[in-house]
This record gives sequence, C-alpha cells and structure tokens, in this order.
Amino acid sequence: MSKFWSPLVSRLTPYTPGEQPKISKLVKLNTNENPYGPSPRAVAAMATEIGDNLRLYPNPDAEPLKLAIARRHGLSAAQVFVGNGSDEVLAHAFQALLKHGVPILFPDITYSFYPTYAGLYEVDYRAVPLAEDFTIRAEDYLGHGDTIGGIIFPNPNAPTGCLLALDAVDRILAGNSGRVVIVDEAYIDFGGVSAIDLVTRYPNLLVVQTLSKSRSLAGLRVGFAVGHADLISALERVKNSFNSYPLDRIAIVGATAAMEDDAHFEQTRNAVIASRGKMVADLTTLGFEVLPSAANFVFARHPQHDAAGLAASLRGDGIIVRHFTSARINQFLRITVGADEACKALIDSLRRHLA
Ligand code: PMP
Repeated sequence: MSKFWSPLVSRLTPYTPGEQPKISKLVKLNTNENPYGPSPRAVAAMATEIGDNLRLYPNPDAEPLKLAIARRHGLSAAQVFVGNGSDEVLAHAFQALLKHGVPILFPDITYSFYPTYAGLYEVDYRAVPLAEDFTIRAEDYLGHGDTIGGIIFPNPNAPTGCLLALDAVDRILAGNSGRVVIVDEAYIDFGGVSAIDLVTRYPNLLVVQTLSKSRSLAGLRVGFAVGHADLISALERVKNSFNSYPLDRIAIVGATAAMEDDAHFEQTRNAVIASRGKMVADLTTLGFEVLPSAANFVFARHPQHDAAGLAASLRGDGIIVRHFTSARINQFLRITVGADEACKALIDSLRRHLA
C-alpha cells in the first residue's frame, strides 16, 4: 500500500501464477506446460528472424499469423484476433465485450484469472456453482435475460479438466443471443471438439485459444480469439489503444510456423493424450478419484490422504504439482501430464508415500 496508488490499484487482487522454480532438476507438473518441444519448423523460423530482422518493428496486425489461423479454421483474417498470450486476449475481451454495467457469469471453480480481470476492469460477476460432480450445468447459464452482461467459461474447465459437450455449449449460445459468450479453449486440443465451427452461426460467440499448451509455446506468449468480425474489431480497438505491437517478430514467425505444422501438432498431442490415459489408470490403482479429463492435466483426490500433505511429500521428492486452497477443491491436486518418465516419477513417489 502506498499513498501514491490509485484507489483501483489498492483494490486489485492480482493473479498468482503457478511457481516457476529456479531449481532445474525438479519434475515440473504444476503449470500445464507441454513436455515436448515446439515444432522444429517454428524453431527454425524464429532463428532466421532473430538473425535477420530484429532491427525492425513487427507487423502491427500480425497478419501472417492471423492468416494461418484463419486458413486452419476456414475463416477470414477479419474473424481472428491475436495477442500476447491468451491471457492478454482474455483481458481485452473483459474490457471490450463483457463490461456492460451488469454482472457477468462464470463458474465458481474456474480459471482464477477471471475474477482478477473483473477487478481490474470493474466488471461485476456472479460465480455459478459447478454441479456436485464438478461439471458445468448449461441450464444455469440460461434464462437470465438482460440481467447479465455476458458469460465466460473455459472448455475443458480449469482446474477440473471436465469437458462441456458441444451441444451444451450450443444451447448456452442460443439462449444468450443478446450478450457475448466467451469459450476459453486453452486445453481443447487434448480431448474436446472446438466451438470454432459455431462462429459462423453465432455472432455472440468468441472462442479463445492459446499456443502455450498444444503447440508447446508457453514461453513465446501467443494466444488468439476467433469470432464475428464485429467482436474482433472491438478487441482491435482496445489493443490499438494499449499496445501497437503486442506480438514481436519472433512470436509472429514462430507461431505462424507452429500453426502450419500439423504433423508435429498431431504427434505431440496424441502422445500427451496417451500419457494421460496411463496416468489416470495408475492414479486410480493407487486409490485416487480422478475427474474425467479432456485436458493436459488431471484433477485428483485421495479419500484417505490430505492433498496438502501429498503435495508436500511430492515436493520432497522434487516433484511439483498444483494445490489450490479454496474450499470445494482443497482436497484435490492438479497434475500436469508430463512425458512418461515424469509421470513414472510421480506415481513412484505417490506409491511410496501412500504405503
Ligand atoms: N485460459 C486458461 C483456462 C488457462 O489455464 C490458461 C493458462 N494459465 C490461460 C487461459 C492462459 O494461457 P496463455 O496466456 O499462456 O495463453
């Protein structure tokens, strides 16, 4: 606190990202990074760009990247927005599309950056409780009329990993034609069907995705949104009132090449999906209850063992997972699906501790 702070800054509750430890030998299963490297074509494109072009400002509209994303999804570049990580895209969306003077809705257990953005942009919200089984109930998001200013949820949800079926997403969109519905698909490539195909039918739909997870580029900071051109121009207006060049030259060429490398994308996401299956089976054998995951992480609790204690004992073995302390989920661990060696280290450590 300082007398120099504005009242808004004094009121903020900033987001706390998962720990990025300094010790290099840790098995890091706490922030949902991809265990595999990015596309070699992306790495090569970035190396060339560093050698040749960093003297110059980047393309302010990241046009080659927008075109690559548009091509992949059969859309036009005017239906694509790109930003410095999907976090930045989401932040702009709160300001540009969700701030209408009435509360927005999002799940009570969800990506904890949403309440932070709501605080930053002074958007009221109502947290809608997940069902007993930790899934989103579409019905809870219907029938509110103009008493709500918008809806946002991740699909699959974080940190649960649970997927909402596309027909349920469709019902939420159809029942909310008067407001924007944002579907945050950070993890969709690991097991869900994207709502991107609904964009042409629903002018109120904004789908947000990231290259941090399924494209293995968390360190590059690239995310995007697709939606009706009117929604995209709202995001562009905010972006162009904030930072002309949120994506640098390295990010533009790297992300473009990554979006075009289907073979690498398919191979690495299938490897993660296969490792998830094994991790779920192994955790279940150890007595864990694991929520059905469509993401590159699992959310699991053990009926006889306290989650904080388990996280601490894993840490003692150099393995870090994420433990949230809020009431409904404080007995769960969120564990990123790593490469098979990391998953084995996790299971071996848990087995020793449970014995
Ligand atoms: N949405 C969800 C649900 C997430 O879990 C994350 C990762 N923390 C993000 C968005 C943001 O990812 P990034 O900024 O790396 O694109």
